[in-house]
Amino acid sequence: MWVIVHTYLGLAIASLVHRPFWQVAVLVVLSHVLLDLVPHWDYGLTAHAVVWGWVDFLAALATLLVLLAAGTPWSIVLMGPISGAPDFDVLLHVASGHHARRWFPSHWSSFPHGHCSMNAGIALQLAIMVASLVVIVAAA
Ligand SMILES: [Zn+2]
Repeated sequence: MWVIVHTYLGLAIASLVHRPFWQVAVLVVLSHVLLDLVPHWDYGLTAHAVVWGWVDFLAALATLLVLLAAGTPWSIVLMGPISGAPDFDVLLHVASGHHARRWFPSHWSSFPHGHCSMNAGIALQLAIMVASLVVIVAAA
C-alpha cells in the first residue's frame, strides 16, 4: 500500500481516537498491517518505482505540512508518519537491489499481502484516502 494511504488512515485514526499518544501509535502501526492485507497495487515493482516513491513521499509530506499550517495538533500530525514508517524497510529492500531483509511482518514474503490490478488498486487506495480525509475534516 502506498505511504500516503497509510499516512491518511493514520491521521484519520488519530483524529478519532482520543487516547494516550503511545496507544494511538500502536493502533496506527496495526492499521499498517491491516491495510497491507487489502488488495492494492504497489509501484515498487514497476520500471518507475523511484519516481512513484518520490511522488508518494512528497505528497504525504505536503499533506502533513498543510495540516500543521492549519493548526492541527502535533499529536495527530505525527501519527501520519508513524503509520507510514514501516514502509522504510521496503525502501531499503528496493534500494539494496532486493537483498536487505524486510523486518516488518506485513512485508515478509510469507504474509498474505494484498494485490490487484493497477486500475482497481489505485481506485481503492484513492477511496481509502478520500474516506480518511472526510474523517479528518469532520473530526477537526
Ligand atoms: Zn507496508
